[in-house]
Amino acid sequence: MEHSFAEIFNIRPEIAELVRDAQGGLQSVFERFGRIAMVNQARVLKAFGDHRVSAMHMLPSTGYGYNDISRDTLDKVLAQSLQAEDALIRPQFASGTHAIATMLYALLRPGDTLLCANGTPYDTLLGVLGDESGHPPGSLRDMGVRVIIQPLDDAGCMDFQALEKTLEKERPKVVHLQRSRGYAFHDSLSESDIRRTCQLARRIAPEMIVALDNCYGEFTQTGEPTLWSADIMAGSLIKNPGGGLAPTGGYIAGRADLIELCAGRMTTPSTGREIGSYAAMYTPFYQGLFLAPHVVAQSLKVAALAAEVFERLGYETCPKSNARRDDIVQSVKLGQKERLIAFCQGAQMGAPVDAHARPEPWDMPGYDDQVIMAAGAFIQGGSIEWSADGPIREPYTVHIQGGLTFEHGKIALMVALNHVAEKGLLTL
Ligand SMILES: *Cc1c(COP(=O)(O)O)cnc(C)c1O
Repeated sequence: MEHSFAEIFNIRPEIAELVRDAQGGLQSVFERFGRIAMVNQARVLKAFGDHRVSAMHMLPSTGYGYNDISRDTLDKVLAQSLQAEDALIRPQFASGTHAIATMLYALLRPGDTLLCANGTPYDTLLGVLGDESGHPPGSLRDMGVRVIIQPLDDAGCMDFQALEKTLEKERPKVVHLQRSRGYAFHDSLSESDIRRTCQLARRIAPEMIVALDNCYGEFTQTGEPTLWSADIMAGSLIKNPGGGLAPTGGYIAGRADLIELCAGRMTTPSTGREIGSYAAMYTPFYQGLFLAPHVVAQSLKVAALAAEVFERLGYETCPKSNARRDDIVQSVKLGQKERLIAFCQGAQMGAPVDAHARPEPWDMPGYDDQVIMAAGAFIQGGSIEWSADGPIREPYTVHIQGGLTFEHGKIALMVALNHVAEKGLLTL
């Protein structure tokens, strides 16, 4: 009975046993994720009730979208769910990068300084910052914003002494933080890192704005960066807060006065948040947000299980299986090109969509090395759904994230491992 689901996919008994034993060792870790989900679920549910969400709030709008009560109520529900003063949640944000860029362009003016306080930001943000020569056109640097990067220390942690000096010397208008480590092999920002940065900034200049990239971080803890005194943050709806149901979009949440600026940048300064329609139902945004605390907990369980399994097989992982998690990404150093390719191909075999496809390494725009990606998601590129990817370079690290249900993530992990074993690339 225990292994009958594994037989459906012809999983080797050793792999089924390995995963079962690994799961057995994670009980207290899973209980912690469960407690976090309870608090977040309660907070989201309370927000729905407090804003009297009802059937009419699911209805679509067209054209300019004047007086779109569905849109405006969703803003309020999200703000309360994320413990922020105000929020903008919109299908018109094409991606997380678009929402983050909107936030930065809204806050910065020519001549201002932006300090990226925890190292070089996520790849897709580099074109928003622009390079030293102001390329590409329309980037922040092209528009006359000074951009300074404060590197992490050798251990991949924030260097607060160096940060303090830079803040005092450069007096940036905006301090950018990125909560998730993205695809780097070090810790993500914790509550204490974020609080400490905000305190430091406030002490040096009370008007300094801390603006945070919250992608992959929502609902991984019982609080959000805006509660930990970040002024404003932004993220993607095809990650955590969309709960796997939101078909597209992004959000910005934080101080009401700053959200007003973002609204003017999002549409135009004269129209702000008053316009923007959605001709399909708003249901997936509401329902996705409602499910998000649970779905994030499922993803965290899948990530911890993957970590524990690979640790038992002797691989280096980040974060460790029992570690605190501030995002949903699990990285594993697979050490061999063929193993990375086999794992990603196996991960694709365990997806609900395009399971028959075989991903191959390809030259992805913006990356120096080839990249392989397993993505068999219902929402194109949706990475709150089970997915795995990695650049084809040493030490051949795979990044695993998402899983709408723990059951699926567990099966997909076993299918992927089984495929690596079939290729003779896994020593059990
Ligand atoms: C996903 C992500 C983004 C935004 O990426 P999009 O693909 O544009 O949604 C930004 N920062 C981090 C850390 C991310 O994980």
